[in-house]
Amino acid sequence: MNPPDTPNVDQSEIAKFEALAAHWWDPHGEFRPLHEINPLRVGYIDQRTTLEGSRVLDVGCGGGILAEALAARGADVTAIDAAGAALSVARLHLHETGLSVEYVESTAEEFAAKEPRGFDIITCLEMMEHVPDPASVVDACAKLVRPNGHVFFSTINRTPKSFLFAIVGAEYVLRLLPRGTHEYAKFIRPSELDAWSRNSNLSLEDMTGMHYQPLTGEYRLGPGVDVNYLAYYRKDG
Ligand code: SAH
Repeated sequence: MNPPDTPNVDQSEIAKFEALAAHWWDPHGEFRPLHEINPLRVGYIDQRTTLEGSRVLDVGCGGGILAEALAARGADVTAIDAAGAALSVARLHLHETGLSVEYVESTAEEFAAKEPRGFDIITCLEMMEHVPDPASVVDACAKLVRPNGHVFFSTINRTPKSFLFAIVGAEYVLRLLPRGTHEYAKFIRPSELDAWSRNSNLSLEDMTGMHYQPLTGEYRLGPGVDVNYLAYYRKDG
């Protein structure tokens, strides 16, 4: 748990993302897995909501890989992150694509105090396993979304298989991610995510696995949430 009255931020995590900031848009660099899963997750969100014309908040947006793709589908996107260097890269990249995203340096909790019920859709992908108190992020997302609005989370399960695949496999054997990207103890079981969500008046609509196939190098969505997974919630009315 995070001590009261201190931001829910792990500075060593932010330092890791600050150091890698220049690499956000290199499709073959450290963030390659995020580039590769992006079409799948955007498709998943688009199938369950109306992105065109909706107000979307992307929490922990990094260099804007997801935020830009949502904007390209017609959403009015605001995106927040605690790593200022990532946001500088994200803002610069808008000049390359001509898309529009409002980037703000903020934690989810700080933003929830400013814009409660301000968004139709919240996305918080691959971020919660990097904070001291993920339940507090879930609660902030629940405050930021309007009644009946949509919330998407993705993270990594805490199972022997996820230790083997997400840490040993991805960081040491296949070198898909830099060593030290993930810490096993911070992984989140679906039952934990769901308990925090229900506490914050979010109801589960769907959960799906995100699978990497080492032989083909491809990703797909499908049953089995024992490593990476994506969850879709709706805020109670
Ligand atoms: N959501 C993006 C990036 C995931 S990487 C995507 O899936 O493509 C995780 C991001 O979370 C990093 O950019 C990191 O700076 C950010 N982050 C970590 N802790 C945070 C916190 N407490 N508040 C806001 N952002 C945070």
